[in-house]
Amino acid sequence: MLQHLATPDSPPSPDDLIEALRALLAGYLLTEDERQNLQQRLRAHPACSAACTARVPQRRKLLPAGHQRRPGRGVGRRERFRCLRTGEETTMRNRLAALVVVIGAVVPIGLGVGTAGAAPGESEQVTASVMSTQRNADGTVTQTTYTPAEGVRPADLARKLTANGVQGVALVNGAGDVSAQVAACSYGTARTWPTGTTCFSRWSYNGWARPQMYFRDRSNSLWPVGRAVTKWNETSGIDSHYRTFSAGCPSSTVHCVIVYNAAYGKTGEWDGVVGMTKRTLNAAQTYTTGAYIALNESYGGTEAQRWNTACHEIGHVLGLDHNTSTASCMYYSRTSQRYPNANDFTLLETYY
Ligand SMILES: [Zn+2]
Repeated sequence: MLQHLATPDSPPSPDDLIEALRALLAGYLLTEDERQNLQQRLRAHPACSAACTARVPQRRKLLPAGHQRRPGRGVGRRERFRCLRTGEETTMRNRLAALVVVIGAVVPIGLGVGTAGAAPGESEQVTASVMSTQRNADGTVTQTTYTPAEGVRPADLARKLTANGVQGVALVNGAGDVSAQVAACSYGTARTWPTGTTCFSRWSYNGWARPQMYFRDRSNSLWPVGRAVTKWNETSGIDSHYRTFSAGCPSSTVHCVIVYNAAYGKTGEWDGVVGMTKRTLNAAQTYTTGAYIALNESYGGTEAQRWNTACHEIGHVLGLDHNTSTASCMYYSRTSQRYPNANDFTLLETYY
C-alpha cells in the first residue's frame, strides 16, 4: 500500500487511500516518514480541496484536546482517555473511528465512504490472520494458521483459541500492513507474512528448476483439492502437483504436503475454524521445511465453499498470507471464491 503511495509521479488511487485508511485505523503504527508521506499524498489528491484539513496524526499525538490519558487503563486501541470537562471516558478506538470519518470525507463519495468510515472491528477483519507460533526444541518454528468460518471475527477466534489452551496465538493484523517490511512483502491486494527475519519463507528447489510441491490428498471426495491444486499450478515460480494419498511421496527432493479432512468438531482448536495449515520453518525462518493441511467437515458447506477453503490453505502452504480482496480465495475467511487472484500469482512469482 505505501509503495503505491510513495510513487511520486502518480496520484494515489482511491483504492490506495482506502487501503491506507484501513491500515491506519487497524494499526495506527505509522513511522514518521510514512505519516508525512501519507498526509502529503492525501493533500495532493484531486478530491482534496485547498481547504482540505485531512491530517494524519502522529501516533503519540492522538490524545483528543481537553482529555487526559488514563495510564494503565488499556493499551493500543483500548487505551482510555477521560474528558477533563465532562469526566466521560473514550477509547483510542473511538478516537480513530472519528478521525477516519474526517479523512473519509475527502475521499470521493462512491469510492467507499462506507469502507473509510467502517468501524475498527470491521476493518480489522479485512487483514487479520490468526496464527499460533511455537519454537520447537530443535530450534525450528511451527506456525499454524486458522481459517475462520463465515461470520467469525479473527479477534474473537484468537481469544477463543487462547482460552482453549492453544499456545502462542497472535492476531497478525493491519498494523503489520503499514510497516516498511510488510509493504515490501505485498503486491496489490495480496500479502505474505513477514517472519522474524524475512518477508517470505521459501520451499527449497532441491535441484529442480522450481520447487516441487506434491499435495497428497487424504480428504474425501467432497473437497475439490485436485482442482484447487491445478489452479495454483498456473503460477510460474513453483509447481503444484496433485496426488492421491496412497500414491505416496515420489521422491525425497520434492515436498509432500498431506491434506487431511475429518469432522474435527467445533470446540477447542476447531471452534469457529473451517481449515488449518501447519507449517514448519527452519530456525532462521527462511525456509519452510514441512506442512500439512486439515479441512474441517464439521461446518459443512457448499462445493464452492469447500473449494475456497482448499484453495486458501494451499495458498498458505505456498507462503501467502491473506488477500484483502474477496476476489481471491486468500480472503481471510471462508467465501465461495474458488480461485486466487492475479496478485497472489504475481506475489509468488516475485519470490520464486
Ligand atoms: Zn488464512
